Amino acid sequence: SVPAAIAASLSAGARSGLLMKGGVVIEAAARTGLVAFDKTGTLTQGTPRVTDVVGLGRPEREVVALAAAVETGSSHPLAQAVLERAKADAISVVPASGAAAIAGQGVTGTVGGEEVFVGAPRHATSRARFDDQANAQVAQLESAGKTVAAVIAGGRLAGLIALRDEPREDAALAVAELKQLGIRSVMLTGDNARTGAAIAGALGMEHKAELMPDGKVAAIKDYAIETPVMMVGDGINDAPALAAATIGVAMGSGTDVALETADGALLKSRVRDVPAMIRLARATMGNIR
Ligand code: ADP
Ligand code: MG
Repeated sequence: SVPAAIAASLSAGARSGLLMKGGVVIEAAARTGLVAFDKTGTLTQGTPRVTDVVGLGRPEREVVALAAAVETGSSHPLAQAVLERAKADAISVVPASGAAAIAGQGVTGTVGGEEVFVGAPRHATSRARFDDQANAQVAQLESAGKTVAAVIAGGRLAGLIALRDEPREDAALAVAELKQLGIRSVMLTGDNARTGAAIAGALGMEHKAELMPDGKVAAIKDYAIETPVMMVGDGINDAPALAAATIGVAMGSGTDVALETADGALLKSRVRDVPAMIRLARATMGNIR
C-alpha cells in the first residue's frame, strides 16, 4: 500500500542518516529540478584557515592584532580563523571596545582609540582608499578561491587577511551525481563574486555570490517558479532560505532547531547524501505509481 511504501522508505533513509518528514516531502524531493546549496559549512568544511597576511599601511603582525581585537566577540567562522592565527603567531589580543557585527559585511570596534573595520573589501572601499596595488592584491587572492578580509584602522587600509575554506571531499562528486539525475546545482553565498566563481567552478556548479540573507531567499523564490527547489544549508544562519525552498534540508548532526524547522536533514554531513536522498525519493514514488 502507499502508506507502507512511504514508511519503508522513511525508515530506510533514517538508517543512513537521511531524514525526510513524511510523504509530501518524499513526493517533492522526487520532483526536484534544482538544488541550491549554502557554501560555508555545507559545500565547504566550514573551518577557514588564514593563508596570507598582507601588510599595507601597517606591519603584518599589527594587521593580525587589529583584526583579532575586533573578531574576539564574533562567532563567524572567519573570526575563529583570525583568532587562531593570532594565537599561532603568539600575538596578544586586546579585545576591542564596542565591537559589533555588520551582517553580511564584517565587524567593527574601537582599538586603542582607533575605529577598526574588518570585512569584505567591497564593503570596505567606502571606509578607506584602496590604491591600485591593494585592489590588485585583493583580486589575485580572491581568484584563488580565498576570502579576503580588509583591515581598516583610523580610516586607512592597514592590510589584508586572506582565508581559505576547503570544499568537502565529496562535493564535486555529489554535483556530478545530481547532473546525472538531470538536476541543476547552484551555490548561494554571501562571499564575493571572484571567490564564489573559483569555488563553484572547481565543483562544476553554478553560483550566485555577494548575496545578503534576503538575497538568498529571493534567489530561491525565483528558481522555484520553474521547478521544485531543494535548499541545503546548515540550518542556523540559513533558516529563511530553508523555509523559502520547496524542501529545506538541514545538513549536519547539529541542531534540534534545524530539525524542527526543516523538511529534511542529512545527519552525516555528506554532500553525496543529497543525490542519495533524491534517488530514494524517486524510487519510493516509482514503487507507488
Ligand atoms: P556566507 O554566505 O559566506 O556565510 P556571510 O553573510 O556570513 O557570508 O558574510 C558575507 C561576507 O561578509 C563574508 O564573505 C565576509 O567577506 C564578510 N564577513 C562577514 N562577517 C565577517 C567577519 N566576522 N570577519 C570578516 N569578514 C566577515
Ligand atoms: Mg553565513
